[in-house]
Amino acid sequence: MTSTTNTSTTTTDAPCPWWCERPAGHGWEDDVIGESAVERGHEHLVGKVGHRLRSIAVDVSGCERAVLYPNGQVGDVIGFVEPPAVNLYGDHPEPMTAGEARELATVLLAAADLLDRVVAGR
Ligand SMILES: [Zn+2]
Repeated sequence: MTSTTNTSTTTTDAPCPWWCERPAGHGWEDDVIGESAVERGHEHLVGKVGHRLRSIAVDVSGCERAVLYPNGQVGDVIGFVEPPAVNLYGDHPEPMTAGEARELATVLLAAADLLDRVVAGR
């Protein structure tokens, strides 16, 4: 989501992909400046690995875009501008023990399996 600014969140009838865990009808979140479009992110948290003062969250998420008309109406969904992918959030550059690395690897493998199913459409 580049060159965006937050706008009021509105609900939508546009369906989420099957893998999105956010509430049904979650709205368009960001106006895309100069693009006459709005975007919303779909996400599925796969797991969190937490140790000491740091934690790492792993999800599969992607960003979808739709047409925004000058009157503020949201039109057709254009598609994903950020295709679904495995994303890590948190303090991952910190050194890990072998156990922490294995735990993170387990969560990453689960995320990879989910992404395979997302890409395959099932
Ligand atoms: Zn969604």
